[in-house]
Amino acid sequence: MSENRSQIDEILNGLINGIGIYETVRLYNGKPFAIEEHYKRLLSSLSYVTDEKLSVEDFERFVFSNDEGDVRVKIICVVSDRLRCFSKEERIESDEEFFNKEIVIDISNIRHADPLSIPPNFKSLGRPDLYLARLNKGNFYDVILLGNKGQVCEGSFSNIFIIKNKKIITPSLESGILNGITRKHVLKMLRESGYEVIEKYVELKEIIYADEVFLTHTSRGIVPVNSLGNKVNFSVEMSKYLTKMFEEYVNAKIQ
Ligand code: PLP
Repeated sequence: MSENRSQIDEILNGLINGIGIYETVRLYNGKPFAIEEHYKRLLSSLSYVTDEKLSVEDFERFVFSNDEGDVRVKIICVVSDRLRCFSKEERIESDEEFFNKEIVIDISNIRHADPLSIPPNFKSLGRPDLYLARLNKGNFYDVILLGNKGQVCEGSFSNIFIIKNKKIITPSLESGILNGITRKHVLKMLRESGYEVIEKYVELKEIIYADEVFLTHTSRGIVPVNSLGNKVNFSVEMSKYLTKMFEEYVNAKIQ
């Protein structure tokens, strides 16, 4: 009991005086994907606020799971007077069920923080712009935040890609977005397979007139989007194909 009390005090102290840094790792049949990249990104986020590091052995221990189902693990590091890290394993809806659903997204009325104010790769808990966007997204799967020049940035927990005339386009890192680990692997997979992929400043109209739109994030890989704000419908033909292709890419990497 007293141990619990002191743990709660530590967390409270962290909430009051500190900040939470996190990573989410997806496990496929109990095996983590891109664990080194998640570890490196966590260290990079931590380096903004502390000299302390979580060891790779501790990170791997946190990520380990006996569950061979659809699982993600969140590693949360609270930084205040010292570094305290925790992990939380979550069962997620099976991929089979998930990919049978209609995915509808919208544009957020919250602006993306300027990268000069909040470094996009500083992955902190409760980051206000992303938190408010998520809070107000209602039933939309995710909402896309625009930057201060009107450029398309990213979702509140995902990166966005559009397909136009078979070309695949995604906001460049200079748009002020998180260097998503799924985004990076999807770009690699697409380029290795001979697709034309363009990273650039993307305007809102390019989403509206896209043939297809898909999101990428750790928990689900490539997520085909059916419509924008229930008003603009997209084809999902190529995106669905890419979802499968990415599943095979991941399976080959975790073997
Ligand atoms: N963009 C934001 C703002 C995010 O929070 C996340 C994931 O948490 C992503 C994009 C997707 O990144 P990743 O593919 O590394 O999960």
